[in-house]
Amino acid sequence: MQIKTVRATPLNLPVTVDSPSGKQKTTSLSLCLVDVELDDGRFGTGMTAITEEEVVASIVNDVAAHALKGHDPLRHEQLWDKLYWLLTPRGQSGYAAHAIAAIDLALWDLKGQILGQPCWRLLGGARAQVPVYATFGFAFFEREELAAAARAWVDRGFRRLKMTVGHHALQRRDEPRPLADVIAEDVQRIRAVREAVGPQVQIYIDANCSLDYFHALSLTQRIEEFGITFFEEPVSQNDIPNMAKLRAKTRIPLAAGQNEGLASRFRDMLVAQAVDVVQPNACITGGFTQCQRIAGMAAAFNAQFANGGAWPHHNMHLHAGLANGSLVEYHSVAVECCKLVFDGLPEPSQGVLALPDLPGLGFKPNRERIAELAKRPLSRGVGKA
Ligand SMILES: [Mg+2]
Repeated sequence: MQIKTVRATPLNLPVTVDSPSGKQKTTSLSLCLVDVELDDGRFGTGMTAITEEEVVASIVNDVAAHALKGHDPLRHEQLWDKLYWLLTPRGQSGYAAHAIAAIDLALWDLKGQILGQPCWRLLGGARAQVPVYATFGFAFFEREELAAAARAWVDRGFRRLKMTVGHHALQRRDEPRPLADVIAEDVQRIRAVREAVGPQVQIYIDANCSLDYFHALSLTQRIEEFGITFFEEPVSQNDIPNMAKLRAKTRIPLAAGQNEGLASRFRDMLVAQAVDVVQPNACITGGFTQCQRIAGMAAAFNAQFANGGAWPHHNMHLHAGLANGSLVEYHSVAVECCKLVFDGLPEPSQGVLALPDLPGLGFKPNRERIAELAKRPLSRGVGKA
């Protein structure tokens, strides 16, 4: 049993989101699928996202594929290490980490098919269902729409909701668009959501690394009264000393890590006491193979380990498999993208996702739809929701 081919397909996917006001919001998200085919005809499929899909596809197709050909697909530690030294030999991260993640997930999908077991059981089988939080609160909603959307998700049975803040503040400061104005509006948006859902619903916020320390601190000081469950990626670059300083000054727990490529970054966050929650993403942070190592570090530090950065259908296996697995992010836009690409995705019920019993990841790419979607122009720098 050998790897015959490794092939990446970059996709830029259209998504339409219904607004409570009746207006539809259209956006797009890019992702890169990776298929690993064996000499017996079996396929495993992994994916990555939140990056330049065409660049990752080139890394996989033009570099990694040649190195994997002829190898035993079950030896995931050997192949992960091979890819690490091939693509990131001097500690680089970036695009290469995404490529490694997508390939690793394809290998785990194959491992499950070969052994006749779902990935979550191979990862340890700690539980057969995982709690999810719904990411619903996007910058394209006006304040009133945001509050109505929050209420609609609660009506669907969700008691854990995440909304974005910061809204590309540092990136767009030259418009000019003062950061103080952005966070002042964030305070009002959070207040509107809290008033719409009542005191029992957990609210999470995510700045996507868009604020500096000064404005992140200012925001936390003005929203503590709203009972925020955690504040994700509060500062640019996941700057560890700044997150540690911020954590010492706020009662709001901090979370980070979804786009990190190297396990050592999580070690540094934990040693510096910079975060309450570490959030490696299986589709970005080196697949299940490296995320298991990071989860082990989180366990040793008695820190929470959760999913940020979406792609719940892959990350659910990690959080069901490992004893310290916890929350999975049900990111509504990312989920709509996955529905375009995959068949057989499980749906949450009352805020919980039940894991599939099928071998591997338990859902399959729809080749006909993917062939059509692959004809669309690539994102070329936009479409990274
Ligand atoms: Mg996030």
